Amino acid sequence: IELQNKKYVWHPFTQMKSWVNNEQTVIAEAKGNKIIDTEGKEYFDGVSSLWVNIHGHRKAEIDQAIIEQLGKVAHSTMIGLANIPATQLAEKLVEITPSGLNKVFYSDDGSTAVEVAIKIAFQYWQHCGLSKKNRFVSLNQAYHGDTIGTVSVGGIDLFHRVFKPLLFEPIQIPSPSCYHCTLSVGSDTCGMACVEALEKVLQENNEEIAAVILEPMVQATAGILVSPPGYLSKVRELTKKYNVLLIVDEVATGWGRTGKMFACEHENVNPDIMILSKGITGGYLPLAVTLTTNEIYDQFLGELHEKKTFYHGHSYTGNQLACAAALANLKIFRDENVIDGLAIKVKSIEDKLLDIQQMKHVGDTRQCGMIAGIELVKDKDNKIPYSWEQTMGGAVCMKARQYGLFIRPVGDVVVFMPPLSSSIEDIVCMLEILKKSVEEVTS
Ligand code: PMP
Repeated sequence: IELQNKKYVWHPFTQMKSWVNNEQTVIAEAKGNKIIDTEGKEYFDGVSSLWVNIHGHRKAEIDQAIIEQLGKVAHSTMIGLANIPATQLAEKLVEITPSGLNKVFYSDDGSTAVEVAIKIAFQYWQHCGLSKKNRFVSLNQAYHGDTIGTVSVGGIDLFHRVFKPLLFEPIQIPSPSCYHCTLSVGSDTCGMACVEALEKVLQENNEEIAAVILEPMVQATAGILVSPPGYLSKVRELTKKYNVLLIVDEVATGWGRTGKMFACEHENVNPDIMILSKGITGGYLPLAVTLTTNEIYDQFLGELHEKKTFYHGHSYTGNQLACAAALANLKIFRDENVIDGLAIKVKSIEDKLLDIQQMKHVGDTRQCGMIAGIELVKDKDNKIPYSWEQTMGGAVCMKARQYGLFIRPVGDVVVFMPPLSSSIEDIVCMLEILKKSVEEVTS
C-alpha cells in the first residue's frame, strides 16, 4: 500500500531527519505480541507499543468488552454526571491499589494525570492553610510527561532545556542509579547517599515543600535506572517524617511491568497520590487515573464560594469505552493469574541479560521484572559513553527492526519491555535478535 498522505503527519520526536524523509514503517495490523506493516512484514512488539500493551494485541476479551460498550454508549461527560464503567472501575482500582488510596480522578493520558497530581498537591496545602508548601521535589533524571507542569518536574535535559523559560523550578535530588552513581565514590558499598540528599532537602525546606514525586523502583525514560533496595521505603519514611506528600508515578511501572501489579508493592509503600495510565486499558485506549487518600479528597469538599473545588476536568474524562476496556484488562489479570505467571518470564530475561552483559560494548544491563535496559558504551572498563552524534542506541534499534523486532532507545540505553503475555520462547528470541543487533552495530 502506497500512502501518499504520510507527509501530513507530524510524528512525535521528529528531530531525526531520516524519519522526516517519510521512511516510517506503516503498521496495518497486529496480533498477540506482533505488529504487522503494510507490506505484511511482522515485528515483535518489543516495547509493548510504548509500554502500554499488556495481554497482546487483539485480545478477544478486550475487543468484546469495547464492542459491547459501543452498543450502549461510547461517551458522556463526567462533569455533573456519572457513568457505569467509570464507577465500576474506580471501585476495582481502590480495591487493588495500595491501601489508603480511596478516590479516583480520571483523565486521558499519563501527562495529564501527573499534572492533576501536581495541582491536587498544590491546592491541598492551600486548603490546609499551609500555602507556603508549594514546591516539588523531583529526581534530576525524571520524566513525568510532556505538558508544561510535567516537564517542570522532569529532569532530562533533552526535554527540559528548550522550554526552560516556561517552567517552574522543582528542587532536584539525584536519581538513584548504582551504575552512574558518583555520590558513593570511595566506598565499596552503597550507603544510599541519594537518600541522604533527600533528607537534607526535606530537613532544610520542608515548610516550602508540597510533595516528592518519583517513579517507584525504576525510572523508565531515564534509561531504566533501578533504585537500590530500600530506597522507596526510605523515601516514604522521610516524607512522613517531614510532613510532605509522596506522589508515585506508576504510569510506566504499573500493571505488572515490574513483576508485581504495582511497583510500590515491592516495598509495601502506601503513597498519598498514585498515577496510573499506559497499561490501564491493556494498550487499547487512552485513559489515566490519579488516586488519592480520603484525607486529601476531603480538603476539596465545600460550596463554590469557599473556593475549595479542584479546578480541573477534561472532555473525555472517564470515557466509557476506555473504562470498559480497563475493566476487561483487570478481569484478564485475575482470570489468567497473570502476575503469578511472570516470575518464570522474568527469570528468562535475567538469564539472557547475563549473556548480553558480557559483550564488549555493553556497560550495564538493568532489569526490574519485565522491564530491561541495555546500556551501550564506547569503553566498558572506564564507563565512557559513545558520543552523542553516534546515536548507537538508535542504530541498534533500526538494525533490530530489520530482523523483525521493534524496540526503542533512550539515548544509548536500549529498552526491552515486551507484552506480559509473550511466551518464554518469544522473549528469548527477541533478546537474541537484540544481542545480534548490538553485536553488528558495535563491532
Ligand atoms: N510518567 C511516566 C513515568 C512515563 O513513562 C510517561 C510516558 N512515557 C508519562 C508519565 C507520560 O505519559 P503519556 O505519554 O501517556 O502522557
